[in-house]
Amino acid sequence: LVEISDVHKSFGALEVLKGVSLDIEKGEIVTIIGKSGSGKSTLLRCINALETINQGEIRFEGQPVSTTMPNLRTMRQKVGIVFQAFNLFAHMTIERNITLAPVLTGKVAKSEARPLALDVLERVGLADKIDAYPEQLSGGQQQRAAIARCLAMAPHLMLFDEVTSALDPELVGEVLRVMEEMARQGMTMVLVTHEMNFARNVATKLIFMHQGRVWEQGNPGELFDNPQTPELKSFIGAAA
Ligand code: ATP
Ligand code: MG
Repeated sequence: LVEISDVHKSFGALEVLKGVSLDIEKGEIVTIIGKSGSGKSTLLRCINALETINQGEIRFEGQPVSTTMPNLRTMRQKVGIVFQAFNLFAHMTIERNITLAPVLTGKVAKSEARPLALDVLERVGLADKIDAYPEQLSGGQQQRAAIARCLAMAPHLMLFDEVTSALDPELVGEVLRVMEEMARQGMTMVLVTHEMNFARNVATKLIFMHQGRVWEQGNPGELFDNPQTPELKSFIGAAA
């Protein structure tokens, strides 16, 4: 689904990605872990062309991804992304937040918009909040609504960048459960996360990034139980 080969990305003189290669197959749940500044968010943002890469190539469904690619909008419609915070438009109801893009892009007719919103809200357990405004929702509910908004576009790939990191601890579980359910239903997902239990138990592949490189990758259980590098060993030790 996604082929990342030898991707380099610099901000000015700072090289943040130093030759990252990685394949993501359909149905895979890939979690990316690593220290602050190791390039996790940058890599995620490169996948849907929120950043321009300096070298190497990223392909999504066979097509080279770039900020100047011909089908940039179509690609972005197929790749949902949820960030740590500020995902919803504050001045719009949850329904409007969810239906805006599908209606604008012609994915659904106006008359079908509310049923679509209800459907995706049911999947994240928020059907009763359809007419609420974001500020009336808890942080966990807002993140679930942000996920529902992505689901409304029927994405082929979902990217999550530390979506639970800003939440109060008691709200983390409800968001993780929604993502777990999506995983069970076969959604291809790439997550940057500090949730080591999720990385170990739900992910099909674990990526450890260090200093702009994929330092280790493989089966999550094997990597956690048997890290091959001192860097991963110490990272796991610090997270435990
Ligand atoms: P964290 O765990 O803190 O989120 P990260 O692994 O996601 O870290 P990135 O956000 O990818 O790290 O950043 C990697 C490096 O690139 C950092 O040194 C950061 O300061 C730098 N960086 C990121 N975005 C920009 C930007 N737009 N302009 C300049 N430097 C940037
Ligand atoms: Mg980050």
